[in-house]
Amino acid sequence: MMKTVIPARCLQIFSIELKPGSVMEMYRSEKVSKHITIIIDIAGVACYLIEGNDDACLLDTCCGYGDLKAYVQTLTDKEPFVILTHGHYDHTGSASLFETVYMSHLDLPVLEEHNRKRSFFLEEDRKVIPSLKNITMADLNPLMRETPMPLADGDCFDLGGIHLQMISVPGHTQGMMCALLKEEKTIFLGDACGTGVFLHEPFSSTASEYEKKSQKA
Ligand SMILES: [Zn+2]
Repeated sequence: MMKTVIPARCLQIFSIELKPGSVMEMYRSEKVSKHITIIIDIAGVACYLIEGNDDACLLDTCCGYGDLKAYVQTLTDKEPFVILTHGHYDHTGSASLFETVYMSHLDLPVLEEHNRKRSFFLEEDRKVIPSLKNITMADLNPLMRETPMPLADGDCFDLGGIHLQMISVPGHTQGMMCALLKEEKTIFLGDACGTGVFLHEPFSSTASEYEKKSQKA
């Protein structure tokens, strides 16, 4: 049976009380299986550290508050590479802190647009997320200067004893990717599926295309 792990806004799953300040106060984490640790930022947004015998992967990078890399270094002695499930600001915010970053190039326009509107998104989030009250643009990490490495449907990453396979599910964005951790029969859905999927964004696909591709996944 397939287990599922649903990232994105996880305040409902974890009761977190985070305050801005040191990196340890910006993030919380919990090991949820042998290979998976969920990390949640001060806005309640999740990313995942997936560790094999040889390599580690950080799936998404939250909103970009504080030093996510330093926090990850408290969890593993491996230097993780990053896979961005899609180009939205709340998944790509700390990607610039990491050396190797993958993302579908179909989402490059989304990434560019969200980078441009960063201060707008912060202001919007501050209106509805009380824990962001004291967060300012100065708390955000710099934007990525390099173009991410390309990511395609079927790409498979060998982490040593475990394999992470990418599955393209256009809908939320054109380049939206889910990741399947084969050995644990666990799929990371990103924003591709959930109780509500935003399909109304400028870079979303049509509802019929989403239905077709999500059934395939
Ligand atoms: Zn999204």
